[in-house]
Amino acid sequence: MLIELKYVGDWRNLCNFAVLMERMTRQRNIAVLGSTGSIGRQTLDIIGEYPNLFKAWLLVARSSADLLIAQARQMRPHMVIIADEQYYGYVCDALEGTGIEVATGSAAIAQAVTMSEIDTVVTAMVGYSGLESTIAAIGARKRIALANKETLVVAGELIDRLMKDSKSVLYPVDSEHGAFYQCLVGERMQDVERLLLTASGGPFRTMPKEQLENVTAADALKHPNWSMGAKITIDSATMMNKGFEMIEARWLFGIMPDDIEIVVHPQSIIHSMVAFKDGSVKAQLGLPDMHLPIRYALGLPDGRLASDCRKMTIEDMAMLTLERPDFDKFPLLGTAYAAARKGGTAPCVMNAANEIAVAAFLQDKIKFTDIYKIIEKTMEQASHIEHPTYEDYVATNTEAREIAARLAKQRSI
Ligand code: MG
Repeated sequence: MLIELKYVGDWRNLCNFAVLMERMTRQRNIAVLGSTGSIGRQTLDIIGEYPNLFKAWLLVARSSADLLIAQARQMRPHMVIIADEQYYGYVCDALEGTGIEVATGSAAIAQAVTMSEIDTVVTAMVGYSGLESTIAAIGARKRIALANKETLVVAGELIDRLMKDSKSVLYPVDSEHGAFYQCLVGERMQDVERLLLTASGGPFRTMPKEQLENVTAADALKHPNWSMGAKITIDSATMMNKGFEMIEARWLFGIMPDDIEIVVHPQSIIHSMVAFKDGSVKAQLGLPDMHLPIRYALGLPDGRLASDCRKMTIEDMAMLTLERPDFDKFPLLGTAYAAARKGGTAPCVMNAANEIAVAAFLQDKIKFTDIYKIIEKTMEQASHIEHPTYEDYVATNTEAREIAARLAKQRSI
């Protein structure tokens, strides 16, 4: 189990903003890794909502130089990093005279997150790229608001080991895991029977299986409820995202994969539920808006941050439905359980193949259903390591990407 389920202080003070302000004796400096992505931008909204509590200290983007520059001018961080070196000069020129430090390259990111001024690192990068800097933040004993689920999918075992030896704390940003956290505060893990992980079902929930072969990237990018980045929206359409979240929950809460049940809930109001051994089920509800779990994660461990955001009405909750997922139509759900049971580098291979396949699908190079085939075949062909080191994950990721890229180029997979 990677996280500690408790608040500091008295529960009666949890909603008392004055007490919270007093407890946070100074502004918390936040590093936002992936500040130009969907979660990154919403994190900056929350930082802007509570200027007395939070300051954006470090902003990191991969290649969206113009947006990073605009964010830097607005938020006035201590430092920005543009990971892609070709934009370094451009960002430097644009921020000249502002006093904001500019750096580039992945080594700079891993080094910057360890700066002593930083209290919280929000890991909102896409995919495997989040791993190295998350490991660096754990080593530097930072408070981590984890939005990059792939870190735990790829290297859950390693992160589990590192967290045991570290004073670092992890808080989930994913809405489902934020929901589990909220349902579990004050409970004993031995009383938990299973976690009920809710899924919207994505844009193809009601589409017949035979039609999935011909859906386009544009069709798959129309998520019914959540507004998210392109990669995770495709992952939602294939339901790979839910498989990833099952593995994320497995490590965060120390629960075996078969004790996590996926439940399709098309309205995305119930963010997830916990079933206890006495027959009780606790659920956390909210509007499908990522600001909510981000606000909750940034408030931890002190308490909830009062907000003027739109609150849920009776009408929002009036029609809630639940159904079982279709493992036949969405085979990546079964793939994710198989990878989680196998452990070792299996989930790392699955993630690498998925990243390559989703990128190829977004460029209209492969069919929607080829995504499954590429992942399955890559998992058959890639080597397996039972107890991997960090270097093993890096090598496995490279190998699996090469296999998947070769498969994606073939005419028939
Ligand atoms: Mg989620």
